[in-house]
Amino acid sequence: MAAESAAPMRSFDLFTPTPEHALLAETLREFVRREVDPQAAEHDRSERFNLALFRRAGELGLLGVTLPEEYGGAGLDAVAAVQVCEALSTADPGFALAVLAHSILFAQNLAVNGNELQKKSLLPDAASGAKIGGLCMTEPEVGTDVLALRTRARRDGGDYVIDGTKTFITNGGIDERTLGDAFIVYARTEDSKVSAFLVEKGRAGFRLGQPWKDKLGMRASFTAELVFDGVRVPVSSRLGEEGEGTRHMMRNLEIERLTLAAMSVGIAQRCLEIMIAYANERKSFGQPLREHGQIQRHVSESFAEYRAARTFVYDVARRMDLGAVGQRVDADAAKLFASQVGKRTADAAIQVLGGYGYMGEYRVERLWRDAKLLEIGGGTLEAHQKNLMKDLSKDPSRLR
Ligand SMILES: Cc1cc2nc3c(=O)[nH]c(=O)nc-3n(C[C@H](O)[C@H](O)[C@H](O)COP(=O)(O)OP(=O)(O)OC[C@H]3O[C@@H](n4cnc5c(N)ncnc54)[C@H](O)[C@@H]3O)c2cc1C
Repeated sequence: MAAESAAPMRSFDLFTPTPEHALLAETLREFVRREVDPQAAEHDRSERFNLALFRRAGELGLLGVTLPEEYGGAGLDAVAAVQVCEALSTADPGFALAVLAHSILFAQNLAVNGNELQKKSLLPDAASGAKIGGLCMTEPEVGTDVLALRTRARRDGGDYVIDGTKTFITNGGIDERTLGDAFIVYARTEDSKVSAFLVEKGRAGFRLGQPWKDKLGMRASFTAELVFDGVRVPVSSRLGEEGEGTRHMMRNLEIERLTLAAMSVGIAQRCLEIMIAYANERKSFGQPLREHGQIQRHVSESFAEYRAARTFVYDVARRMDLGAVGQRVDADAAKLFASQVGKRTADAAIQVLGGYGYMGEYRVERLWRDAKLLEIGGGTLEAHQKNLMKDLSKDPSRLR
């Protein structure tokens, strides 16, 4: 009796819980192997975003996995979003970051916080990859302290006039000359409350500022400053009501942090594959590296941490309601843990490969550079620590 009732629990697969997730995993495996992996090193070196690959991801339905089917999405859940970001990051975290900024920060945000008209006008093109989107939160003088943002949206009759500068915006441009297509922009409105606006390319006064070149990692994603110089948008561009921006922001940050954590898991997985293969092949003192205790320690501890991070991320995804707030504790904790695991595993991989690990050809140095961003973007380690202390003090029952 006990064995029978335990059977469904044993057959439950946390990482591909339904046939749809299994199909998605298969599509991702093939796409990553045939199309993402072969171009990754070159786009890192040349610091170019691969627009053709992005459009191809759209064709395969990978840009809209969480979007409702009526707008061209697959209508899946946070687990599917995690699968996409994890799998792409095993090969090209820079490309994965561009996909995440588009699919989660822009499209998923719009799907949850926009109205029918706004969703109809942009989500089908976001799901197909015809248009590329991003999110404008960070400003030159305001990052972690996001509610201190200075960009203003002043009401003027039936319009708002937006003034300010946003920086570090992923997909802010496609290249040095071409602005991204559509953005969700947080700005301060009446009474200093934060509101969210949809701003598309082509509005007078909206332009690409300084592109950020020579980044440490994530070089296959394009990061730019965006300038809003008296940009006039109709009231119908506002997402929700005036002053609701903070709530929108918080709602989207949870899935953002979880998918960023999934990227770290993907990085850790690839680094483990590379270091295990190397430890099997390379000989020193007459035996394979795998026979040396210190190498065993690098591999085994990285593996244990990777498994813990992956299970944590997928378990949070399984519980996450994409339309709700209140899951910040788990999303923060998953990113706090996984981002450090990603970086530590990449570091261990370089160590196991010795001098070869330091060389671009062996991939792990790129993954190590990419892994660092995940301790900063979408919330720094310190921001997660602060949030967790605050939330756990308020509600210790979150421990169970
Ligand atoms: C490659 C890349 C892509 C990005 N993409 C986007 C994007 O698409 N959209 C977007 O809006 N933003 C984006 N960002 C911005 C990113 O989210 C911010 O860099 C991040 O939130 C940190 O903000 P900051 O850089 O201003 O650092 P700051 O907030 O100035 O922090 C500097 C240091 O001080 C610490 N610190 C700050 N306040 C506290 C405190 N109260 N207690 C303890 N320590 C504190 C921080 O943890 C950090 O260590 C991107 C950044 C990068 C590098």
